[in-house]
Amino acid sequence: MPSILQVALDTPLQRLFDYRLPDGLGPVRAGSLVEVPFGRTHQIGVVWGETSDSAVDSGKLRDIIRVLDDRPALSPDILRLAQFCADYYHYALGAILLATLPPRLKNATPFVADMPWLIATEAGLMAEPPGRARAQRALLDALKIAPQSRDALREAKQGRHAAALVENGWATWSRLPPASANMPATAPAQLATPEQQAALDTLLPALIRFGVHLIHGVTGSGKTELYLRLIDAVLAQGRQALVLIPEISLTPQLEQHFRRRFPGRRIATLHSGLSEGARTENWLAAPDCDLLLGTRLAVFAPLPRLGLIVVDEEHDLSFKQQDGLRYSARDVAIARGQQARVPVVLGSATPSLESYAQALNGRYQLIELKQRAISQAQLPAIELVDLRHIPVDNGLTRPALQALSDTLARGEQSLVFLNRRGYAPALYCPSCAWVSPCPSCSVRLVLHQSAHRLKCHHCGYETRIPADCPNCGNPDLKPLGQGTQRLEETLAALLPAARIRRIDRDSMRPRAWAELGEAVHGGEIDILVGTQMLAKGHDFPNMTLALILDTDGALYSPDFRATERLFAQLMQVAGRAGRADKPGRVLIQTAFPDHPLFRYLQRHDYSGYARALLAERKQLDLPPLTRQVLLRAEAPTMAAALAFLQQAARTAPAHPQVSIFTAVPAPMARVANLERAQLLIQSASRQALQAFVRDWRPQLETIKPRVARWSLDVDPLAF
Ligand code: ADP
Ligand code: ZN
Ligand code: ZN
Repeated sequence: MPSILQVALDTPLQRLFDYRLPDGLGPVRAGSLVEVPFGRTHQIGVVWGETSDSAVDSGKLRDIIRVLDDRPALSPDILRLAQFCADYYHYALGAILLATLPPRLKNATPFVADMPWLIATEAGLMAEPPGRARAQRALLDALKIAPQSRDALREAKQGRHAAALVENGWATWSRLPPASANMPATAPAQLATPEQQAALDTLLPALIRFGVHLIHGVTGSGKTELYLRLIDAVLAQGRQALVLIPEISLTPQLEQHFRRRFPGRRIATLHSGLSEGARTENWLAAPDCDLLLGTRLAVFAPLPRLGLIVVDEEHDLSFKQQDGLRYSARDVAIARGQQARVPVVLGSATPSLESYAQALNGRYQLIELKQRAISQAQLPAIELVDLRHIPVDNGLTRPALQALSDTLARGEQSLVFLNRRGYAPALYCPSCAWVSPCPSCSVRLVLHQSAHRLKCHHCGYETRIPADCPNCGNPDLKPLGQGTQRLEETLAALLPAARIRRIDRDSMRPRAWAELGEAVHGGEIDILVGTQMLAKGHDFPNMTLALILDTDGALYSPDFRATERLFAQLMQVAGRAGRADKPGRVLIQTAFPDHPLFRYLQRHDYSGYARALLAERKQLDLPPLTRQVLLRAEAPTMAAALAFLQQAARTAPAHPQVSIFTAVPAPMARVANLERAQLLIQSASRQALQAFVRDWRPQLETIKPRVARWSLDVDPLAF
């Protein structure tokens, strides 16, 4: 009897599909990729297991078309991790498995791995090509020192000689350049600070088992340095380290930093800035690398010798995927650490309250670094500019402007933080109060002056700036409020001598970070203007002033996490000021200087504020003291979306420990012409909530009438 395989396919259905493995195909194992007929199309699937009796009539059972043995099978650790995600996020296993794969491996066209590096083989290292093959000999000599890239060889017209070396077995093409032991380490480890040493004394012995360690260290306290030392220890045992970093991040800089620190190691990266091809190559190379540096998707990379996972800036929102499989890479990393029995190190100057609460209750080990690593570097003084008494002109107060020009006069650098990209948040008609609505969403179109467009930041709709008001015909339309572009323009007019650079999603390409870093370090920039992108991990020694404009919206936002996030953001921005030997200064413009957040901020007291927030959350029964799941629905009308959720609530299994709230319109009720509503489920017990959703989910599939889309968001972060 031919064997029957259970195949996971990329469908929303939470089940496996049976196929027959015809004679002559194979071999297959769990994790093998196969091409199968599905409906009238073909799909790529992942073999999950084998079964002897299928519920499908043997007459109806279809054959596997092809085993894709031109690419590696998914490894057992990834299969296990996908199973965890399917259970925890109540998401289809097949969809998860396929989502973990890099793009090129997901289509059936034969896969030819690109091998961009020529390296000397063992035999090549000993060989001496005959004297007459002078060019070959020269190339081999070069290879003995360092690998050569295909592009460089092509440029130097060495292709033929390379081919000859490969033919002789002296060289081979490879995915990753091997570690070149000859490269000198240009960033040798400094002496650990006493706090770093204490942390190492705790962490190094813990590297042999699973455990979650939260490093709470002020900005500049040397967290990165601590990761490097832990990684060093893990690599020395021949194991692999996975380092997860936030999405809009300094991957290139960090990569360089790691490469310089570990010149003898194979380092691979995985992030969305890479081309499809490069992502696929790096994913394929992951099993052989020593260190994988990547954004959230890297948590699913195959790492058979995993020894340590580091999640840097663990509080960062980009670790949570906001569509499809709505996973938290931090939480999946912890699950992976547990499965692989390796430690997970979370680090942040402003940990998420989720992680901090776990550290306070002893489930995670808390490690604190309270001092900056460079002893002269002091935490900056934080001053408030009271907008109730001091007038604002074009978004700026006089003290703020004064501080900027003083800093400029001293030849030091400033950064100005405004978390709104574009020229202005809206275009406004003073005569009829029209404010540039998006035709498809319940938001305003953002004015992008230089592009001459109005753009929706939610659905991507854009249009030319109208010459006059579409509502009343008034030709005198005005920008409403400040965006980074307008602020840049204002600053340029007020401080003509300053060299200003704007940083936001409109101005930055992924590769531009390295150039920007050099420009700031080289003193070519006086003022950086930007959004939260600015707040991330830069280390600029001559940056002594941080100016923070217009953050008041978050102080009284309906999102219960808004103050936690604002505090984190302000701490991070403040952390950019005064990193080296010069004292830093932070100025915040606010109309609410009495808000408790500022008291804690001025004392640089993260833990005080975190404890205060946790007490508040406990009183209000909010996460992390409780657990939440959000059921979202989208439909052409709000009534349909709400009706679906109400029906879902009615069919919910009764469970004493689980509360079901009322279905409500989402805070942003309309996006891309669909109305959005949500139903919140909450429990003090994670187990109870999980059990509830397990029972509930199959019922959701049967609700009629159906909506355009629904999804479950476990541990939702954005509402
Ligand atoms: P964090 O990641 O906590 O913000 P970093 O690891 O980037 O901090 O360190 C901040 C600065 O302190 C960097 O310039 C780094 O080179 C320096 N540094 C870190 N550890 C040490 C040490 N043990 N001795 C001297 N300088 C250090
Ligand atoms: Zn008008
Ligand atoms: Zn829109």
